[in-house]
Amino acid sequence: MSDEPEIPTTSDSSDASGLLDGGFSSLGLDPRLLTALSSLGYEEPTPIQVQAIPPLLAGRDVLAQAATGTGKTAAFALPMLNRLILEGGDRKAVFGLVLVPTRELAMQVAEAVHRYGRGTGVRVLAVYGGSSMGLQLRELARGVDIVVATPGRALDHVKRGTLKLSGVKLVILDEADEMLDMGFAEDLEAILDATPEGHPMALFSATFPSRIAGLAGRRLTSPVELRLGANREAGAKEDAGGRVKQTAYVVPRAHKLAALSRILDLEDPTSAIVFCRTRTEVDEISEKLNARGRRAEALHGGFTQDQRDRVMKRFRAGAADLLIATDVAARGLDVEQISHVFNYDVPSEAEAYVHRIGRTARAGRAGTAITLFEPREQWLLANVERLTKKKIERATVPTVADLKARRLELTRASLRETILGGGLETFRVAVDSLADEFDILDVAAAGVKLAHEAAGSPGEEEEIPSVQVPQDRPRFVPRSETGGMTRPVRRTPRLPGAVSLFIGAGRDAGVRPADLFGAITNEAKLPSKAIGAIEIADRFSLVEVPGESADAVIEALRRTTLRGRKVLVRRERPAPPRR
Ligand code: AMP
Repeated sequence: MSDEPEIPTTSDSSDASGLLDGGFSSLGLDPRLLTALSSLGYEEPTPIQVQAIPPLLAGRDVLAQAATGTGKTAAFALPMLNRLILEGGDRKAVFGLVLVPTRELAMQVAEAVHRYGRGTGVRVLAVYGGSSMGLQLRELARGVDIVVATPGRALDHVKRGTLKLSGVKLVILDEADEMLDMGFAEDLEAILDATPEGHPMALFSATFPSRIAGLAGRRLTSPVELRLGANREAGAKEDAGGRVKQTAYVVPRAHKLAALSRILDLEDPTSAIVFCRTRTEVDEISEKLNARGRRAEALHGGFTQDQRDRVMKRFRAGAADLLIATDVAARGLDVEQISHVFNYDVPSEAEAYVHRIGRTARAGRAGTAITLFEPREQWLLANVERLTKKKIERATVPTVADLKARRLELTRASLRETILGGGLETFRVAVDSLADEFDILDVAAAGVKLAHEAAGSPGEEEEIPSVQVPQDRPRFVPRSETGGMTRPVRRTPRLPGAVSLFIGAGRDAGVRPADLFGAITNEAKLPSKAIGAIEIADRFSLVEVPGESADAVIEALRRTTLRGRKVLVRRERPAPPRR
């Protein structure tokens, strides 16, 4: 054990200004790599990086449990690049070999190595089946430092003598369990036989079936074993999401920003933190959200204490309602009234998720945590659920049709209010004069269109392709699927599974549809798309909500005030009072 390298732990200081790159530079990496990491906006190493980089730099074998999303690629790519810098590549020989199960992963890992090694002149090549052999042959002949390959194609090249592994100094098996599952066991063994004795090797695998143990036992020498088990204590310290309503939206990577923007529209948070993985992401997202008319402030470890203070002052004072931050920057922040926490990515460790969502639901308030995830990150969410022992509801991002339906419903409800409010005589003249020429319904529709547009339409909405939700969808059927929104107001709920709530305040008390929308989304934390028709009478209002949320909405509305008054709230009785 004495030769085991000292494994630094990540700093947990709340002083973000003191943390600039501290995490990575303490791992002993070359300054060029640190520069690359900083330009990528990485602020601190992930746990797998903290634990795997030092032993790999020291030439130890590593057996690590890590899957996609943990930062495992950098955990092996950085030490590989660092050793290449120190030991110098040989034009004729491959220095590092990374074996991966699929062509997509080969391309992805090769790109990552290239990014991390920018500025070092590293030559990386992805070698996989199904692509031109000729190109790979030419590149290999020209000389490559790091080869990222699928086993089948790698073995082809080894047999042809076009991939020479005699000089290999470091071998990585990435997603080893997948490689075995795909039937690459023999190819792997043959490739490893072609590498020289005594080079260090690391095996990364999400799971550890006995075949992995067998492979590790045969091929690794006294490996440093890294099992990133959940740290139960961290979760136990926090409420672990007790008062926080948690929803995760499955979104394809390319549409994340549009999805975030749309969910922000629907949730309309009063004060929210959006957590991102990197500084670059923080800068990009805050810029784009501001361009879309939001009031967002960026906060990451690249800020001086002064800048940080200024940002926090604006956020606390409500001059900005969104804070886009990295985990490092948000550490130690204590803002009481955060209604929503957004995770732009699923954090690579479940504990980080718990810490993040602990920023909301302070001081006995309720809170909402919304996570965007790609289908392949499903397992990271499952880790979180295991740690918190709470289920995170999976949902799909509302479609353009959902949005349009919601906006139109608001317009409809406001028009109804205007009609009932009277004082339309002057406007009737305009309608009257058009009535000779046009159908009266068209005249009215044109008026609705103008009102709708004046209410602020965000312009053409991009359609976000729906991805299959890996678990059950919420049971409530949004109005867009029922097509019921233009029907006249009825006292029976229009939507399957919805119930009508009676609220003992109406027009006379100054209640407007937007007040009810606001109260229900903010206090009961019901997503606005789940709210059905709203009808406002002189002395009461009716609002449709999903049956399963009715009790929670009633309770929340009873706790709060509407237009400054406590109001009676109950399920609507079969024979409701009529105006
Ligand atoms: P991986 O598990 O290697 O597929 O990495 C998952 C994602 O995390 C990739 O998008 C990486 O770019 C990103 N990533 C890896 N390490 C870090 C880090 N230390 N800080 C921020 N992002 C990271």
